[in-house]
Formats: sequence, structure tokens, C-alpha cells
Amino acid sequence: MQSFGYEHPEWLGQAVDLLRTHRPHARPLAGGTDLVNRLRDGTLRPHVVVDLKGIAELRPGITQADGRLWISATTVLADLVADERMRTHFPALVTAAGVVGPVQIRNRATLAGNICNASPAADTAPPLLVYRAQVIARGPAGTRSIPIDAFFLGPGKTTLARDELVTAIELPVRDRPVQAAFGRLTRRRGADLATVSVCVSVDGTGSTRIGYGAVGPRPLLATDDSGVLADPATDPATRTSLLARLARATSPVSDVRASQEYRRSMLLVLSQRVLRAAVIGEGEG
Ligand SMILES: Cc1cc2nc3c(=O)[nH]c(=O)nc-3n(C[C@H](O)[C@H](O)[C@H](O)COP(=O)(O)OP(=O)(O)OC[C@H]3O[C@@H](n4cnc5c(N)ncnc54)[C@H](O)[C@@H]3O)c2cc1C
Repeated sequence: MQSFGYEHPEWLGQAVDLLRTHRPHARPLAGGTDLVNRLRDGTLRPHVVVDLKGIAELRPGITQADGRLWISATTVLADLVADERMRTHFPALVTAAGVVGPVQIRNRATLAGNICNASPAADTAPPLLVYRAQVIARGPAGTRSIPIDAFFLGPGKTTLARDELVTAIELPVRDRPVQAAFGRLTRRRGADLATVSVCVSVDGTGSTRIGYGAVGPRPLLATDDSGVLADPATDPATRTSLLARLARATSPVSDVRASQEYRRSMLLVLSQRVLRAAVIGEGEG
């Protein structure tokens, strides 16, 4: 591993100053479950690593205010999974966070790290798309709020500038929780990255939102406002043909986890399953 400087700022402003001074050779460190591996294998060679865990403003926590749940950047996935408000309002995100790695990883890994890593297979991305998350970022020019759909650019790439940090992820709380479900396919049971993942939400107005993961360079959102997918009485052939049409927006590739053809076929199968689970109000197993 190449040697690097280690900074442990106490305040957010100090962290942003460090990133600005050392850009583009500084990297934020949250749980380190991705970053430390990349430092070890040399795919990332920052001069300075800026640890976010001691920053007063980023202390771990989930708070509710102004109709939103606010998840700070150092909140680990295990705490998100255990939070009753998250379980009530965002069950599909809880399901997805609960399958990220083994428990040792979830005790360390943050939600912010999962999206900043920008893996097309990041499990929390499809539910965050479906639930209309906003990413709160802080940089030298101040704070901005980025809709999650505009956050991912491609593998390992986000809209964040090299001197910007994610400080929190915000989720709008609806009066009545929307029905939603998440499902993924992996090569084996237990800890593995998704070969294909899907999250579906259905709300009272007949709108259906579908978040796709691992089937393109970035997680993707599709919507159906016709009411057809949300209607349990829709005949299966119509439903399947509409799901297939929406899935055409994805661009699966062949890689070590699956071939393009397998991903295409399984995306449709998984979409049908997860849609059914969302419409009848049950989590996908
Ligand atoms: C054994 C194992 C199993 C795994 N299984 C899964 C899985 O099933 N599903 C899955 O989705 N992922 C999986 N992962 C990947 C990883 O655990 C997750 O992506 C995790 O959520 C990353 O969070 P972290 O806090 O550890 O991020 P870190 O490793 O600290 O950081 C990841 C990246 O994000 C940047 N970053 C972190 N926080 C911020 C911030 N606030 N602002 C700006 N940039 C930031 C870092 O600079 C780095 O580039 C697995 C990893 C391992 C090692």
C-alpha cells in the first residue's frame, strides 16, 4: 500500500478545507469498507485520507424534522436497519441496507459511503431512487441538495466535486407510507454483490416507480403513471409487456457476475416478483 497522510478533523469546515487544499489527491473516509480495500490494492492512491468520523456536525444519527428523515453521513447501515421510523416509512430501503455484506460490514459501512462509492450494484441506490432521496453536499461554495437521480454519473463517478462531501441523505416522509419492495439476485446465498436488483413503489395515485441496480453504468429510475402496474387487476400479459418496455432503458453488460442475456432475462423476472410484492404490500424475500 502506498503511504498517505491521515487527517481527523473535528469540524466540517476543516474537512472541506483539507479536501480543497489537497484536491484532487484527498479522499474522505467513512466506514472504510470500500476505501481501505482500494488503498490496499492500489486502485486508489490518495495523498491524504480525511476521516469523517470525528466531525461534530456529522455525528451518527437519524433525525426527523420538516417532513423529512435526515440520515447523517456517518450513520452506519446497521443503525438504519434498526431504526423504527425507517422501518415504518422506508421498508424497502431497510430491506436493501440489511443485505449489504455480512453484519460486520453493516456495523461499519455508511449509507453515504454506499452511494459515494457509486457502484452500479450498490444495494441502497434503487430504494433511494424510488423514495426520492436528496443528497446534501457541502463544499467550499456552501451546501447544495442533489436529487439522487442526478447524483450517479457512472461506475465510481458522482456529481460531487473533489472538494465536496456528502453530509446527509434526506428522505421525504409521506403522510401514508407508499407500498414498496426490494429484491436482488446474487450468485450465491449470503454475502455477495447483486447481479440484478430492483425496487418498486406503488402509491395511492397509481404511480409506480422502479429503481434498477446492476443493469447499467449507474442505478436507474423508471416510472409508470398510467396506473396499469399499480392495478392488481391488470392482466399478466399487459403487466409483463409494460415492465419489459420500461426495462429497455437499462443497459446490462456481461461481467464476472453474469452475462448480459442472463441479466436481461432475470431483470424482467425480478421486476415481476418485486412489483407483485409491492402491490400486495409484502416485502420481497
Ligand atoms: C465483504 C464486503 C461485502 C460487501 N457487500 C456489499 C453488498 O452486498 N452490497 C453493497 O452495496 N455493497 C457491498 N460492499 C461495499 C461496501 O461495504 C459499501 O459500499 C459501503 O456502504 C461503503 O460505505 P463505507 O462507509 O464503508 O464507505 P468508505 O469505504 O469509507 O468510502 C467509500 C467511498 O465513498 C467515499 N465517501 C465516503 N463517505 C463520503 C462522504 N460522506 N462524502 C463524500 N465521499 C464519501 C470515499 O472516499 C470512498 O471513495 C461490500 C464490501 C465488502 C468489503
